[in-house]
Amino acid sequence: MESRIELSFALASAPPLAANSKVLSTQNAARLNTKTMAFDFMFQNPAVIDLAERYNPIWALESVGSLLEWDMETYMPLGSSKPRGFTIAQMQLLKQERMMQLTDLTSKAEKSTNLNDSETGFLRLLKRELDYYTKIPPKLLEDISRTATEGTVVWREARKKSDFSLFKPYLEKMVALKRQEAEKLGYQGHPYNALMDRFEEGLTTNDVDKVFLPLRSELNGILTKVLKAGSFPEHHPLEEIRYDDEAMKRVNVDALRLLQMPENTFRMDISTHPFTTSMSIEDVRITTRYEGKDFKASLYSTVHESGHAIYELQIDPSLDYTPLARGTSLGVHESQSRFWENFIGRSREFVKRIYPSLKSNLPFAAKYSEDDIYRYFNSVKPSPIRVDADELTYNFHIMVRYELEKKLIAGEMEVAEAPEEWKDLMEKYVGVRPDNDADGILQDVHWSGGMIGYFATYSLGNVIAGMFYNRIQKDLDLRNTVAKGELVKVKEWLKEKLHRYGATYSPKDLQQRTFGEAYNPQWLLNYLREKYLA
Ligand SMILES: [Zn+2]
Repeated sequence: MESRIELSFALASAPPLAANSKVLSTQNAARLNTKTMAFDFMFQNPAVIDLAERYNPIWALESVGSLLEWDMETYMPLGSSKPRGFTIAQMQLLKQERMMQLTDLTSKAEKSTNLNDSETGFLRLLKRELDYYTKIPPKLLEDISRTATEGTVVWREARKKSDFSLFKPYLEKMVALKRQEAEKLGYQGHPYNALMDRFEEGLTTNDVDKVFLPLRSELNGILTKVLKAGSFPEHHPLEEIRYDDEAMKRVNVDALRLLQMPENTFRMDISTHPFTTSMSIEDVRITTRYEGKDFKASLYSTVHESGHAIYELQIDPSLDYTPLARGTSLGVHESQSRFWENFIGRSREFVKRIYPSLKSNLPFAAKYSEDDIYRYFNSVKPSPIRVDADELTYNFHIMVRYELEKKLIAGEMEVAEAPEEWKDLMEKYVGVRPDNDADGILQDVHWSGGMIGYFATYSLGNVIAGMFYNRIQKDLDLRNTVAKGELVKVKEWLKEKLHRYGATYSPKDLQQRTFGEAYNPQWLLNYLREKYLA
């Protein structure tokens, strides 16, 4: 499932950055006293505090931008997109202008010695953004932005008509612009590294190849066995049964209760493509979808987005209004949504907890046993569509996109060749050949919006979730904890190990600190074997 927290993060020319100087400077001492955890999040260096204070208006612009985007996807009248687009673009320009004014102060602060981890993290993030704005000429940014806006409109039409030739010139232009962007940013090794780094700091094709190689062959083995055994059905009658939206809403609210989502700093609304957005640590919102049938899609959109929201909500409060007050990367963010959606949400124990709500709200579901529901939630079916994919086939879809993007950016393949290459790779990896381009190369919004270098983070999210799943079981009897509905214990554990740090550490540093290794796919594979082959 898509998540707008990542999409908006990617669409904005810079990741959400924030700094709260008012709080930092005036309440510093008071909050130091109330701090209970050993880790010190406070800014103490005068140059950093000064910089954070000047960061206030940028943080506010970022927050307002998120609110405008949230409104655009939920309540804005359909005909109002033009002025909204104009406003958002103007705010982004303003933000960039204010950012650039921090260049000298950032260099000055970087010369300080004895910085603590959050101060170092703060400067690292500022530096990354300034670096981007410095290296990318405004003309290139503008071209990318315009091509994305126009391209997205054309892509919608092309997908509707399943006609790649309409979208082809825009994709050609975007690939050319992204190749320029990679050259301007600079890279070691593959030019694609420069683009992936924007979404997952420090990620290289080397890292991804090392994950995808074993993942592909091992997943293939598991999938073949599962399909042969038929224990996880390819189809389930519940997929076709229509539900009442209001009744489904009550199930989703029960799921939020199970996850103990806070009532005063969190809310859920409806949108076509579910997403999470954060205006601040104290204002995090998700959306879910109601398509009228196959109720698991609605339920698991809710749980997935809640996973993103929990990460944002559990960042240490002292980091709010600073650029550290967000997840550290798209991959790590996705690890949280996937952890809640799949590892927790699709477990037998969670099914047990949500079953009473299903029985009372969805009368048709009452006819099925807990075991039936569990198998419906975990059906396995190779399909041409990524967003419909299950745990076993999902990563193959990502590998297809990764291979294609790598070739396009290296100039090893023409855009004109991409639709056939897509079909060939799908056949090779997923075992399904799409009949047309709507179900093939035109299915995702990412390329039209210029998000090239993004897809791998979805799979890395699964991989990192596997690492958390393995690690948490050393401290918690996870199955029992979920069975008892004590999900707050899981949340507390994640807060302690990951959430509270926000973006203090880069994704690789964070994994090294937590696991002593980064992007190791074996833990995900262990989990999948245990679940599907036991
Ligand atoms: Zn997500």
